[in-house]
Amino acid sequence: MNNFNTLRTKMVKEQLIPRGIKDKRTLKVFREVPRELFVDDKYLDNSYEDHPLPIGNGQTISQPYIVALMTESLSLSPTDKVLEIGTGSGYQTTILAKMCREVYSIERFSGLAKKAEKVLEDLEIKNVTFKIADGSIGWEEQAPFDAILVAASAPRVPEPLLEQLNENGRLVIPVGSMYSQSLLRLVKKGGVIERKDICGCVFVPMVGKYGWTNER
Ligand code: SAH
Repeated sequence: MNNFNTLRTKMVKEQLIPRGIKDKRTLKVFREVPRELFVDDKYLDNSYEDHPLPIGNGQTISQPYIVALMTESLSLSPTDKVLEIGTGSGYQTTILAKMCREVYSIERFSGLAKKAEKVLEDLEIKNVTFKIADGSIGWEEQAPFDAILVAASAPRVPEPLLEQLNENGRLVIPVGSMYSQSLLRLVKKGGVIERKDICGCVFVPMVGKYGWTNER
C-alpha cells in the first residue's frame, strides 16, 4: 500500500519548493491536505504525481504545482472572503478553506460539486458554500471578495469578476485561447486594475456567459 504522507512530503519538497513556492502558509497546507481523497479510485497511485488527472465530465484536478502557484499568487490572509470558480474535485477549495475565513465555490457540473461537497464534509471543513451555476458571472449576492480564483480558462477577463473584487482584492485567472493561456494576477487598487502575467498555462475552458460558448 502507498504511504500517502510520505508521497505528500515528497511532492512539496520536489515539485513545489524547487519551482519557487515560498509562502509558508501555502507550503503548510500542501503538507496537510490529503490529495488522494480528491482523485478517482483508479488513479489513487498517481495522486501525488506532477500532472493533472481526470475527475469525470471531461474535467481534471490540476497539477499540484499549479494549484500551489495560484494559491500563493492570491496572497491570502486568514480573514479573507474568497470566491472560487470551478470547484472540480474540491482539492483547491480545501486548500483555500484552510487558509482563509470563508470560501464561495461555483461549479457547473452538479455531479462534481456533489462529490466535492461530500469529501469536504468528511474532512469536517465548514467554511465553504457551494453553488451549481455559471461562475463566469461571479456571485453578486456575496460580493465583494478579497480574492477570486478561476480554475478554468477564459477568452478575456470577465468584467463582473473585477467588479466583485474588494479594494486591494486579487484575481488569479488563466486568459488566452482555448488551448493555451497566460495565468494573470490582477489587483484592484483605487479603482485601477494592476495586471501581471505569472506564466504560460493550459486549463480546461470556462464555459459560460463571460467564458467560452462551448467545450471546444
Ligand atoms: N481546481 C480544481 C480543478 C478544476 S477544473 C481541482 O482542484 O480539482 C475546472 C473546473 O471548472 C471544472 O470542474 C469545470 O466543470 C468548471 N467550470 C468550467 N466552466 C465553469 C463555469 N462557467 N462555472 C463554474 N464552473 C465551471
